Amino acid sequence: MYPSPFDYYRPKTLAEATELLVQHKDAKVLAGGHSLLPAMKLRVAAPTALVDIGGLRELQGIELSGTSLKIGALTTHAMIASSEIIQKSCPILAEAAGQIGDLQVRNRGTIGGSLAHADPAADFPTVITALGGSMSVSGLKGSRTIAAESFFVDLFTTALGPGELLTSISVPVYGRGSGGAYLKHSHPASSYAVIGIAALAEMKAGKCARVSLAVGGATTKPTRAAAAERALMGTAPDAAAVARAAAKVAEAIHDPISDLYASGEYRRHLATVLARRALTLAIQRGQVP
Ligand code: FAD
Repeated sequence: MYPSPFDYYRPKTLAEATELLVQHKDAKVLAGGHSLLPAMKLRVAAPTALVDIGGLRELQGIELSGTSLKIGALTTHAMIASSEIIQKSCPILAEAAGQIGDLQVRNRGTIGGSLAHADPAADFPTVITALGGSMSVSGLKGSRTIAAESFFVDLFTTALGPGELLTSISVPVYGRGSGGAYLKHSHPASSYAVIGIAALAEMKAGKCARVSLAVGGATTKPTRAAAAERALMGTAPDAAAVARAAAKVAEAIHDPISDLYASGEYRRHLATVLARRALTLAIQRGQVP
């Protein structure tokens, strides 16, 4: 349980951090360390250098500007769960953050680390995918923005290029009449999602004007359940309509993950059950009296 030897750097600026990452081709960014350090101790990862971004205060913080919510990559899960701004403007994010691991994990782990790690069983990738969020990344060649649907490429693989750092995450804020829900079936030991479902519904005059549904934990990356979304669009959804839409979630799950804990078929079934519950809750929360 000892990691391979590595050099340690703690840059004071973003520019210094990106330069270090380019100089040290095998370097890894260290944020909360709650995914990277266990991987290093198991020698699944053996970087020759760590670039600790913990001192870059500019990467931390929560900012609401008009209809856009910006969250710094170094913002911890605990900060997101307890932020009044997030609870009011994007409650599904706070709801998901509060379900991550335990208090220790939530106090150290960061949203940037979770997204950059791209663990299929993580919670934030699913929620950010449902929200249609985007990632701001920075490297020696400058900055760019990557939409969530292009950011998650495969198992533990993102669109981040060599030497690039995730700096912040932006999500649109949906107004009155919008509701959301994040539900998961957690692994009993770690709390990671065996299946996680993020559902959003915008209700107008009793009908679904917008529906977004993402599934995590089922396949190598979070997936939007387009057929289920389409089934509810424009309808005044009763329980039967929600159940019919949720059943279509299975169509979005190709080649599901199968492991000792849950078979692929079980995951598929779980996704439809949780989708029905999450959609019901999102619609209820969106109905303005
Ligand atoms: P680190 O571990 O520091 O880094 C993870 C990876 O991302 C590394 O490859 C690193 O180089 C890279 N990285 C980090 N920040 C950046 C950045 N800004 N730009 C580019 N690359 C970056 N997660 C869940 O979602 N749900 C759970 O229920 C859950 N349960 C957990 C239970 C336990 C016991 C533990 C130990 C972890 C659990 N986690 C869970 C994971 C936890 O949320 C991690 O904190 C998170 O996945 C990684 O965030 P971090 O800040 O710790 O990143």
